[in-house]
Amino acid sequence: MTSPAGSWTQRRAKWRRYRVGRTLTYVGIFLYLPVMVALTLAFNAVGWGDDALMWIAGVWMSACVVNGLWFTTFRCPECGKRFFPMGANWIAPSNDWGSKCRHCGARAPA
Ligand SMILES: [Zn+2]
Repeated sequence: MTSPAGSWTQRRAKWRRYRVGRTLTYVGIFLYLPVMVALTLAFNAVGWGDDALMWIAGVWMSACVVNGLWFTTFRCPECGKRFFPMGANWIAPSNDWGSKCRHCGARAPA
Protein backbone atom coordinates (compact mmCIF):
# COMPACT_ATOMS: atom_id res chain seq x y z
CA MET A 1 0.00 0.00 0.00
CA THR A 2 1.46 3.33 -0.98
CA SER A 3 1.08 6.20 1.42
CA PRO A 4 0.21 9.74 0.33
CA ALA A 5 1.95 11.02 3.41
CA GLY A 6 5.48 10.31 2.20
CA SER A 7 8.40 8.33 3.50
CA TRP A 8 8.59 6.56 6.80
CA THR A 9 10.88 9.29 8.10
CA GLN A 10 8.25 11.93 7.39
CA ARG A 11 5.47 9.82 8.84
CA ARG A 12 7.50 9.12 11.96
CA ALA A 13 7.97 12.87 12.48
CA LYS A 14 4.19 13.34 12.27
CA TRP A 15 3.57 10.54 14.73
CA ARG A 16 5.97 12.27 17.08
CA ARG A 17 3.87 15.43 16.85
CA TYR A 18 0.79 13.31 17.54
CA ARG A 19 2.33 11.97 20.74
CA VAL A 20 3.31 15.49 21.82
CA GLY A 21 -0.22 16.77 21.26
CA ARG A 22 -1.81 13.82 23.04
CA THR A 23 0.55 14.16 25.99
CA LEU A 24 -0.13 17.88 26.28
CA THR A 25 -3.87 17.23 26.17
CA TYR A 26 -3.71 14.72 29.01
CA VAL A 27 -1.30 16.81 31.06
CA GLY A 28 -3.29 19.99 30.48
CA ILE A 29 -6.53 18.44 31.72
CA PHE A 30 -5.45 16.11 34.49
CA LEU A 31 -2.67 18.15 36.03
CA TYR A 32 -4.55 21.45 36.01
CA LEU A 33 -6.36 21.08 39.34
CA PRO A 34 -3.52 19.45 41.31
CA VAL A 35 -1.06 22.08 40.07
CA MET A 36 -3.47 24.92 40.85
CA VAL A 37 -4.13 23.60 44.34
CA ALA A 38 -0.42 23.18 44.97
CA LEU A 39 0.35 26.67 43.67
CA THR A 40 -2.44 28.19 45.75
CA LEU A 41 -1.02 26.61 48.89
CA ALA A 42 2.53 27.62 47.95
CA PHE A 43 1.57 31.21 47.11
CA ASN A 44 -0.37 31.56 50.35
CA ALA A 45 2.59 30.19 52.26
CA VAL A 46 4.94 32.83 50.86
CA GLY A 47 2.32 35.58 51.08
CA TRP A 48 1.90 36.32 47.38
CA GLY A 49 -1.42 37.58 46.09
CA ASP A 50 -3.81 35.81 43.76
CA ASP A 51 -2.80 37.92 40.76
CA ALA A 52 0.08 35.68 39.78
CA LEU A 53 -2.16 32.65 40.16
CA MET A 54 -4.75 34.15 37.82
CA TRP A 55 -2.06 34.73 35.22
CA ILE A 56 -0.79 31.18 35.50
CA ALA A 57 -4.33 29.82 35.21
CA GLY A 58 -5.00 32.04 32.21
CA VAL A 59 -1.83 31.03 30.40
CA TRP A 60 -2.44 27.37 31.20
CA MET A 61 -5.98 27.43 29.85
CA SER A 62 -4.93 29.36 26.76
CA ALA A 63 -2.25 26.76 26.09
CA CYS A 64 -4.86 23.99 26.45
CA VAL A 65 -7.15 25.75 23.98
CA VAL A 66 -4.39 26.28 21.44
CA ASN A 67 -3.16 22.71 21.78
CA GLY A 68 -6.71 21.35 21.65
CA LEU A 69 -7.55 23.27 18.49
CA TRP A 70 -4.33 22.18 16.83
CA PHE A 71 -4.60 18.58 17.97
CA THR A 72 -8.16 17.99 16.79
CA THR A 73 -7.15 19.01 13.29
CA PHE A 74 -4.22 16.59 13.32
CA ARG A 75 -4.01 14.64 10.09
CA CYS A 76 -3.27 10.94 9.99
CA PRO A 77 0.34 10.33 9.00
CA GLU A 78 -0.66 7.18 7.10
CA CYS A 79 -3.69 8.24 5.07
CA GLY A 80 -3.56 12.05 5.28
CA LYS A 81 -7.16 12.40 6.45
CA ARG A 82 -8.34 13.86 9.74
CA PHE A 83 -7.32 11.59 12.58
CA PHE A 84 -10.26 12.49 14.82
CA PRO A 85 -13.98 12.53 14.05
CA MET A 86 -15.57 15.77 12.90
CA GLY A 87 -17.67 17.42 15.54
CA ALA A 88 -15.51 16.11 18.35
CA ASN A 89 -15.19 18.11 21.49
CA TRP A 90 -12.54 20.62 20.53
CA ILE A 91 -10.41 20.26 23.62
CA ALA A 92 -10.52 16.50 24.02
CA PRO A 93 -10.64 14.44 20.83
CA SER A 94 -13.38 11.89 21.37
CA ASN A 95 -12.23 9.00 19.19
CA ASP A 96 -11.51 6.75 22.19
CA TRP A 97 -9.23 9.60 23.07
CA GLY A 98 -7.59 9.23 19.74
CA SER A 99 -5.68 6.00 19.83
CA LYS A 100 -6.32 5.21 16.18
CA CYS A 101 -7.24 6.89 12.92
CA ARG A 102 -10.96 7.03 12.14
CA HIS A 103 -10.28 6.53 8.44
CA CYS A 104 -7.60 3.87 8.14
CA GLY A 105 -7.32 2.61 11.71
CA ALA A 106 -3.63 3.42 11.96
CA ARG A 107 -2.18 3.61 15.44
CA ALA A 108 0.84 5.47 16.64
CA PRO A 109 3.88 3.19 16.42
CA ALA A 110 5.50 2.32 19.70
ZN1 LIG B 1 -5.51 7.27 8.66
